[in-house]
Amino acid sequence: MAERCICPAEVAPRELMRHFEAICAIPHGTGNEQTLGRHILALAEQNDLAAQQDAAGNILVRVPAAAGCEDAPPLLLQGHMDMVCVKEEDVALDMDREPVRLIREGNILRADRTSLGADNAVGLCHMMALMEPHDFPHPPLELLFTVEEESGLVGIQQFDFGCIQARRAINMDCGDPDVLVIGAAGGEKFRLSRCCTVVERSDPRLTVTIWGLLGGHAGLEAGKNRGSALELGGRLLDALCRLGDVRLSRLEMSGSRRNIPDNLCLSVLVPRTLQAKADDVVAELDQIFADELAQTDPGYQLEKSWDQGAQGAAAADTRALADLMLLILYDVQRRHAAHPAWIQAAALLSWADYREGLWEGEFSLRYNREEYHSAMIRRLEAICRLTDVTIHPANDATPPWPAAEDSPLRDLCAAVFRRLNGRDMVQEIENGSVEQSIMVREVPGMDCVGFAPKSRGAHTTAEHLYLDTMQPVWDYFRAVLRELCQKT
Ligand SMILES: [Zn+2]
Repeated sequence: MAERCICPAEVAPRELMRHFEAICAIPHGTGNEQTLGRHILALAEQNDLAAQQDAAGNILVRVPAAAGCEDAPPLLLQGHMDMVCVKEEDVALDMDREPVRLIREGNILRADRTSLGADNAVGLCHMMALMEPHDFPHPPLELLFTVEEESGLVGIQQFDFGCIQARRAINMDCGDPDVLVIGAAGGEKFRLSRCCTVVERSDPRLTVTIWGLLGGHAGLEAGKNRGSALELGGRLLDALCRLGDVRLSRLEMSGSRRNIPDNLCLSVLVPRTLQAKADDVVAELDQIFADELAQTDPGYQLEKSWDQGAQGAAAADTRALADLMLLILYDVQRRHAAHPAWIQAAALLSWADYREGLWEGEFSLRYNREEYHSAMIRRLEAICRLTDVTIHPANDATPPWPAAEDSPLRDLCAAVFRRLNGRDMVQEIENGSVEQSIMVREVPGMDCVGFAPKSRGAHTTAEHLYLDTMQPVWDYFRAVLRELCQKT
């Protein structure tokens, strides 16, 4: 039975879930963090804590050390106030003004056909619990609440780290209860474009629609062999071009530009004499795609239809775009030699569109090392040079958070976990962007890790939190804080 609200008295740890619920009761989509910011400032004032808010809206709260821990080096905790607001089409909720409606189903907490905002309420509620009276040891704390993380780490890039004393930091916007994040990728996006000569021609028009792929977050789901609709579309366009004088007439997609492309609609003009062959080519590739994707994307679907077309890109332009879509990168390029689970470089064409003479695309890359970054860019430049595609300058580049060779905080977190659980915590380099990447760039020597309660489906209406992971992470977190009270 679904329960319409969560009863904080029943969900442990109560001192966290009270804040989780309070956060959910305040609309706080990206750019709309003011009310939540006031709520946090009021909490600081009630508890006599020094707090300051910068012009961007980021808030820094200082919590003095617990008695007896005054000499321990300070620790920074940091999380973002904004959430991604998405809802099902038929949901009337105004997420700018109305709070999400929580639904608890046993161990699962989700929202009613909207995103939940566990990303990053799970982090904030730990920080807010530390602002209230408590009776466990911890070093002096600097709590950094940022704004506009979800629009490309915007808030933290405006924060002045000059006022930060801590040289070690825990982020609760990444990781899992048993996964310690020790690094993350940097990223960059490029807009691509190509102008084509439009030819008026009333040939039969073949439209192929692909949908039902799994898609998902382009960074976090990379390297799982998931099908990309654009990669399939490139192979289709190439196979059709090989028949003869075929012209691209339309290419469109729907959904998020940040995800692995999970759908596409491709139209080409085909001379009447090649119609039957085109049918054969599509049928053959459909079978190949279905076989390839049987394990990863069982929902794969392809449908084709014919009608009458009027115009398309010249044959040479069509050929060039087919080449681009064949050559361009779609997934992981490098993995760590000793830890193959760690992706070191990945890139993909995440979106494309063609209409009336203009092809446009978005290419996004992620990397952990500068040499991989520049190698992928040189390759993109070569592909675009060969196919006459223009690369427009990147706009929202973020640096990597490189895994440190030497990290006392990582070692301490690993040791505490082993002591509590009798097994090792998995260490991971995340292929997504985390605010830590800005922090380590701005504060050289900052020692950072990330872990968090288990939630899934961030940025989607399927976002949900596993309530039974809140208490173990809170226990672990407090054990780490206790350990950090050592003077070293
Ligand atoms: Zn987040």
